[in-house]
Amino acid sequence: MSYPKLPSRAENFSEWYNQLVLRAELADYAPVRGCMVVRPYGWALWENIQKALDARFKATGHQNAAFPLLIPLSFFEKEKEHVEGFSPELAIVTHGGGKKLEEPLAVRPTSETIIGYMWSKWIRSYRDLPQLLNQWGNVVRWELRTKLFLRTLEFYWQEGHTAHATREEAEEETMRMLRVYEDFAVNEAAIPVIPGRKSESEKFAGAVTTYTIEAMMGDTKALQAGTSHFLGQNFAKAFDITFLDRDNQLKYVWTTSWGLSTRFIGAIIMVHGDDQGLVLPPRLAPIQSVIVPIWRNEEQRSRVLEVAQQVQSALQPHIRVHLDDRDHVTPGFKFNDWELRGVPVRIEIGPRDVEQGVVTLARRDMPGKPGKKTVPMDGLPQVIGPLLDEIHTNMLRKATEFRDAHIFEPETYDEFREVVGHGWAYVWWCGSPECEARIKEDTKATNRVIPLEQPGGEGRCIYCGAPARLKAIFAKAY
Ligand SMILES: [Zn+2]
Repeated sequence: MSYPKLPSRAENFSEWYNQLVLRAELADYAPVRGCMVVRPYGWALWENIQKALDARFKATGHQNAAFPLLIPLSFFEKEKEHVEGFSPELAIVTHGGGKKLEEPLAVRPTSETIIGYMWSKWIRSYRDLPQLLNQWGNVVRWELRTKLFLRTLEFYWQEGHTAHATREEAEEETMRMLRVYEDFAVNEAAIPVIPGRKSESEKFAGAVTTYTIEAMMGDTKALQAGTSHFLGQNFAKAFDITFLDRDNQLKYVWTTSWGLSTRFIGAIIMVHGDDQGLVLPPRLAPIQSVIVPIWRNEEQRSRVLEVAQQVQSALQPHIRVHLDDRDHVTPGFKFNDWELRGVPVRIEIGPRDVEQGVVTLARRDMPGKPGKKTVPMDGLPQVIGPLLDEIHTNMLRKATEFRDAHIFEPETYDEFREVVGHGWAYVWWCGSPECEARIKEDTKATNRVIPLEQPGGEGRCIYCGAPARLKAIFAKAY
């Protein structure tokens, strides 16, 4: 049985991505256009993302809850910017129980409105604050152009929602969760990100300020990998969420929301993947190590398999390990198959290894000979943990080097137009939405992020030449 090759990334990045998602069995197309089916391997990856994030949310004092999928349509009309931003994407239920509904219901695109409504009932006094909630669920946004994981009509995510007594506390929360996302991206997914603020035209509909972690994909396009919004009192006023403060004054609360979705799986694929397939970050990989036994005849088979099972049992308490004992495919086929699926470490055990009490380890992040080494079977559990950490560090370093090599600082607008074809442009920007809009029209590059870390001083806007105090990153994006 031969193993079909993927298109190369250089030749067609988009097709490489589409075929990889299908062939690695992460997801498949659903009968409804724009929807996806997340397959067990993809869902296992999402579950590991969930675990890593959920632990961080709990550690920062949040609790999980579940709010309904259906929201009265009128709720969306209460916050002006929110309705303008979301109404074209709403899926609306008009019939139920065989009858036309008195009030149409929206399938949630996000839950600020329903949670705001419930808070207006639950919050009475400063003693009821802060409210620190998170919800794991699915939402629907009627997108016209879709791509598996990156933009689908229905997707899975977590949405955090918090309410606070003061502006300062809400702003602190917004930044805290941005840093949680940054920490998760770097330390779990080995994805370097730039934390910063979105411009007025790129922010969330209804937010005062939107913060983002922005990541560079393998084709140099940008991807918004997580967002944290300071909502001010916009939703508090729309839903009349008030509380009696210590000073006996009735005040509106201050709210935030923050989210990260299955889109992040798209980022993992596009940041780390190579022409052989996925390269999964070890801390999130559903299978961290796969054992491939190698035999030529029946006698070897039973001996090798027995030892392979012992190795599996020894590793199981330490890592997520899988023994590939399929006997209808060759070891070569298995090697390609697990490479395609991005398993960080392959453990090869053949008859000679069994005699010598050794195994051969092959790293997915370093294909070929440089990533191979033979180690004693005894003590393997003590070797594999540090090896997975080393792989994580190497993947983060590679992704960071690639990104930094593709961030340019053009001095003229002509240079700018040239670099956004193959990288990011880090430039002075006067802050005007007109300059952003013209740049977008002209080059398809958008203002991705105004990094929190600023050089200070003053320059001239890359588009209009007016004095500018901010540097921003412009790039083509997913
Ligand atoms: Zn300008």
